[in-house]
Amino acid sequence: MARSFDVVIIGAGIIGLSVAYYLKRKQCPRVLVLEKEHSWITGSTARANGGFRQQFSTPVNIRLSQISLQVFQNFTEEFDTDISFRQYGYLFLTATEKGEQGLRRNLQLQKVQGVPVEWVTPEEILQIAPFVKVEDLRGGTFCPADGYADSYSIAEGFGRKARDLGAQIEVGQPVVEILTASGQIEGVAIPGEEIHTPRVVNAAGPYASTIGKMAGVDVPVQPIRRMLVMTEDFPAIPEKIPMTIDADSGFLMRKESGKVLMGWSDPSEPPGFNLTFDSTFIDIVAQKALARVPLLEQARINPRRSWAGLYEVTPDHHCILGEAPELTGFFLANGFSGHGMMHSPAAGMMLADLILEGKTEPLDLHPVRLARFKEGDLIEETVVL
Ligand SMILES: Cc1cc2nc3c(=O)[nH]c(=O)nc-3n(C[C@H](O)[C@H](O)[C@H](O)COP(=O)(O)OP(=O)(O)OC[C@H]3O[C@@H](n4cnc5c(N)ncnc54)[C@H](O)[C@@H]3O)c2cc1C
Repeated sequence: MARSFDVVIIGAGIIGLSVAYYLKRKQCPRVLVLEKEHSWITGSTARANGGFRQQFSTPVNIRLSQISLQVFQNFTEEFDTDISFRQYGYLFLTATEKGEQGLRRNLQLQKVQGVPVEWVTPEEILQIAPFVKVEDLRGGTFCPADGYADSYSIAEGFGRKARDLGAQIEVGQPVVEILTASGQIEGVAIPGEEIHTPRVVNAAGPYASTIGKMAGVDVPVQPIRRMLVMTEDFPAIPEKIPMTIDADSGFLMRKESGKVLMGWSDPSEPPGFNLTFDSTFIDIVAQKALARVPLLEQARINPRRSWAGLYEVTPDHHCILGEAPELTGFFLANGFSGHGMMHSPAAGMMLADLILEGKTEPLDLHPVRLARFKEGDLIEETVVL
């Protein structure tokens, strides 16, 4: 007899596992997570930088961060998992008039939304991050409640707890077909088996659009490579530093286990599933690093500790959360555009509410509905790193 579930989730990354956990916490009876790889958490989640921040440019992204932060703060107790939660802040820097205008505009919105963020002068920046070259800076914004954590551990916490509560998580099970009839989900197919369900959650990260096509739903998410580089041990920069971002160049850095982790998003990177780390990237990042942190000249980058991963990017850099209007029972949790770790608790919580209760509180998902793309009602996020 065919197996049957109340909800089938496609993808065992941080998003799929979060949705599974919150569904089970709300007593959804039969939840199945299907993962195509032979172990869970091997996709974008395992390659993230770990940053969480409330410094966004739209109310919905700020709210997703605020709801999620409450979960991260209590993660150890709720999930019995250490996520290396480091609330050392996010520090944005600018040397240009345009940059200052942008940061101040965002600051105003963030403050209205209750984010504990402040404008900081070059002198104050030196107190927070003494390694930064401040001579040319106009200032920046600092939110001490932002920070970084371990993305893999968060996903593992969600997954373990979901399993403890009765979710089934199966690896090596690629979904190859989505079964529908009369505009309604009927099930999914994996090789050799059809599984019945009235509800499918697309949590396939960079593969969201592929899953969408299986269901006949256009999910505008593109995979785009992002690279991070790591130095050898570098004690000259202290361990407890904020995620430090040169808002003008896009260069960002933080510390990890004694080393400096650095990144930069190349705006010319084409969409695609390229996961190769390109060693020419090292020079590009080093150049941007030295322009803002000359001390890094003494640091040695280790190419073997550097890596590439995939962002899952939507046209307006906001996630897609909700049910596809054209296919009843097809739920989307996609396109986090580089913010999927920090928004994973809120995403799981909201989607579980929507699936089980038909409504979401305390967040209105209207701005992040799928239909916004067809309706031309986009909500551009400007703080994308
Ligand atoms: C370099 C880098 C740095 C980042 N830094 C940050 C950061 O600082 N902060 C932050 O919040 N976010 C960051 N992100 C983004 C974050 O990693 C992602 O938004 C998040 O991991 C997305 O989670 P996911 O579960 O949707 O995707 P994934 O982790 O990719 O999981 C999707 C899963 O679906 C599976 N799947 C796909 N197709 C199928 C199928 N047909 N059948 C079954 N399973 C399938 C995949 O194998 C995969 O395991 C970063 C990403 C990268 C690459």
